[in-house]
Amino acid sequence: MSEPIVVVGGSVAGLIGALAIARTGERVVVLDRDPTPFPDGPDQAFDPWERRGSPQIRHSHAFLARMHNLIRDREPELLERLLALGAEPIPFRAQALRHFPDAVFEPRDDEAVLLACRRVTLEWALREHVLATGLVEYRGGVEVTGLVSEHGAPPRVRGVRLRVGGGEETSLRARLVVDASGRRTRLGDWLHAIGAPRPREIRQPCGIFYGSRFYRLLPGVGRPSPDAVIGADLGYLKCGIFPGDSGTFSVTLAAAPDDDPIRGVLRGPGFDAAASALPLVAEWVRPEVSTPISEVHGMANLNDVRRFLVEDNEPIAIGIVAIGDSLAHANPITGRGCTLAWLAAYALARSLERHGDDLRALALDLDAAVERECGPWVRAQIAQDQDAVLVNEALRRGEDPYRFERADGTIDPKAFARSVIREGLLPALREDLHVLRAFVRVIHMLDSPEDLLARPDLAARVLASHARRKERDPAVLGPSREEMIGILAAAA
Ligand SMILES: Cc1cc2nc3c(=O)[nH]c(=O)nc-3n(C[C@H](O)[C@H](O)[C@H](O)COP(=O)(O)OP(=O)(O)OC[C@H]3O[C@@H](n4cnc5c(N)ncnc54)[C@H](O)[C@@H]3O)c2cc1C
Repeated sequence: MSEPIVVVGGSVAGLIGALAIARTGERVVVLDRDPTPFPDGPDQAFDPWERRGSPQIRHSHAFLARMHNLIRDREPELLERLLALGAEPIPFRAQALRHFPDAVFEPRDDEAVLLACRRVTLEWALREHVLATGLVEYRGGVEVTGLVSEHGAPPRVRGVRLRVGGGEETSLRARLVVDASGRRTRLGDWLHAIGAPRPREIRQPCGIFYGSRFYRLLPGVGRPSPDAVIGADLGYLKCGIFPGDSGTFSVTLAAAPDDDPIRGVLRGPGFDAAASALPLVAEWVRPEVSTPISEVHGMANLNDVRRFLVEDNEPIAIGIVAIGDSLAHANPITGRGCTLAWLAAYALARSLERHGDDLRALALDLDAAVERECGPWVRAQIAQDQDAVLVNEALRRGEDPYRFERADGTIDPKAFARSVIREGLLPALREDLHVLRAFVRVIHMLDSPEDLLARPDLAARVLASHARRKERDPAVLGPSREEMIGILAAAA
């Protein structure tokens, strides 16, 4: 039998990558370190499923339209199964009608659908679906510890070293190795050990920690808002509400990792007090509306990262590629991780179909596709996070980071851009369907952020909205940082 393609990591990226590859006729083996048995259903998985290899499954997730549409078009049975398990498509039209009751829609508006589903439910259904196809061999409790290679320039990867249940190290030969072992991948060490360079990285701290808690709506109570994307940015604190499957939703509060007083939101009483003090969140977490179904889960050390396995048009090693968080991940608050993983997985399957017999050409083709499909998102996020860190620092120094008119009458361009977003773009989303549609398409990764910036019609509308800023009452998103510190201290 021919050597298989070995996928390291059997989470969202590894599973969809394995299936996409298997559908091209390849033999695929997935190896995952976590030894935990597969639960009987998503509700059984929600709390006790031990997935140390993917701790973010306990956090809020939104699945964007680009990914929803890929599932619908490529794996319709998976979408059916997710819907049967209580996942819910939330269409743009519902959100638009709330603000624009007379909205005239375009056919492309049907593309913008968010899939409301807990991350645990998605992964559970995806694993069930992949196993049911019979096309992929899944081996749990198998830790990959390194690569098997032949010397060369660049080195040629021939398989993986592995350990089962803490036993002796053995190896498995592979035609191609796909690293899908997540944001904490050891790929750099593995490549270094076989004489290849560590992949070059672009890395930017997201400037936030994450605190998430799940809730279930009480029987007979609907979601307080039909919007798919619900969030607010208070500068020192970001909050998001993520609709889930089966009447669940989660709330995430995110703030700067070194803002010690605000870290109080990571404890139950602090989280509850902060949630109740934020008008947007408060209406969801009232006891007459919902009840908590999880603890507050925290996560720190969040970065935007893009790794490159091709340099100067040459793969750094032949016979190894990466997809998912191992290759690129960005600030979780924008909910793009799984969509990026899905895009890279399908790009890999396409590259295999074109260049399956020439692994160098395959690596170059994949690199170009990932740069085209995923690169703009990571770059945009890095720029956004760099600025968010500056905004946060300015707020803590007591400065106004949105004040763009300098004392000498000149304009601070960075502050002007922030003000245009806050006092031009955000109000325009409620006042101008044209702007809302364009923004939602970028949020859902249907249009590139670079295209959006290049559209003069939109810029004119947003600037016109900004020019009207003094006619509006200032939006009150929640307490000031000082007030919130008092609220958290009282809750503690
Ligand atoms: C706080 C948070 C919130 C997020 N929110 C969103 C969101 O709203 N929407 C969204 O789309 N994305 C979101 N993401 C990103 C999303 O969770 C990931 O993009 C997604 O899980 C795909 O990850 P992955 O499969 O690449 O890696 P992971 O899910 O991290 O899985 C890696 C897998 O590799 C296995 N593994 C690791 N090392 C080895 C080894 N040596 N040998 C064998 N197996 C190994 C692990 O056991 C694990 O199963 C969020 C991420 C975080 C951190």
